[in-house]
Amino acid sequence: MSQNNKNSDNNTRSTWRVDVMSLYPEMFPGSLGLSIAGRALENNIWSINGTQIRDFAEGKHKNVDDTPTGGGAGMVLRADVLAKCIDAVQQPGDTRPLIYLSPRGKMLDQKRVRELCDGDGIILLCGRFEGVDQRLLDHKNIEEISIGDYILSGGEVAALTLLDACVRLLPEVMGSKHSGDDESFENDLLEYPHYTKPRVWQGLEAPEVLRSGDHGKIAKWRKAQAEKITKAKRPDLWAKYDAKH
Ligand code: SAH
Repeated sequence: MSQNNKNSDNNTRSTWRVDVMSLYPEMFPGSLGLSIAGRALENNIWSINGTQIRDFAEGKHKNVDDTPTGGGAGMVLRADVLAKCIDAVQQPGDTRPLIYLSPRGKMLDQKRVRELCDGDGIILLCGRFEGVDQRLLDHKNIEEISIGDYILSGGEVAALTLLDACVRLLPEVMGSKHSGDDESFENDLLEYPHYTKPRVWQGLEAPEVLRSGDHGKIAKWRKAQAEKITKAKRPDLWAKYDAKH
């Protein structure tokens, strides 16, 4: 099977391959072994291979980190050890982006998630301690992605977050009925509110229009709600949407 098949070619698409380098590879697939991601993993829609960074350390103590040059708190992951690990994982001709999960990276969004899904997979590097030696990032031209403006103790949970967002969008994973097109962020809008049974709860009913059976009206109402909610909750998104429409 060709490695170059893209999402559009569902039947012949090859497995979306993930490699993750970590000091705790046993954290994978973790939560992604369950539910829809877990089923997709069983069905080979995606695959994951964990690599233990420490296996590439030398000497009796197998040190992967050392004190920061210039002083300061904490430890830094060594460029030489990480480079060896990357070279073992990234084969020549590998088209998958190499990504370091980092609070200094570009904030992950649905657009980048879609782009990543359209490729052959990803290679992820999870940091620990104070992070990694800057020379590694510069020398290997590594993309940095953040999952938000807060600090985690390691890149693993960020990697699981990124993977969760990607895997659910792979062909066949959510089922053909649910394309995800209406969801928050897909059109620079947050999603409209949802309701379900029971019909009356605590004396409250779902808005009348949703019970009307008029699909045109329902679609119009949902769009108006999505716009209203986005305007109120996310002025930044609203500005983007407003400029486009
Ligand atoms: N000293 C660093 C934080 C290191 S946290 C700083 O101030 O920028 C340890 C590791 O957790 C990082 O190397 C990174 O891989 C991961 N990490 C922490 N917060 C993250 C975030 N918001 N997004 C992605 N990865 C994160």
